[in-house]
Amino acid sequence: MENQDPRRAPDCLKCLHFHVTWDAAFPRGCTLFGVKSRNLPSIEVYKATGRHCPSFEARPIR
Ligand code: SF4
Repeated sequence: MENQDPRRAPDCLKCLHFHVTWDAAFPRGCTLFGVKSRNLPSIEVYKATGRHCPSFEARPIR
């Protein structure tokens, strides 16, 4: 069964779709969902939908 513990949202900082925005008020963004926020975008996805982001993709290690 899928884990829907709010504390276990995917770590956007390790995700391919995460980016830092130029907006000091909303510095964390997700290109996939078009989200800009103070929190990690995955937290916003959870708050909006009640489900964890299903689109985490691990950023390749360089
Ligand atoms: S796709 Fe999901 S895990 Fe990746 S940055 Fe966006 S909200 Fe975070």
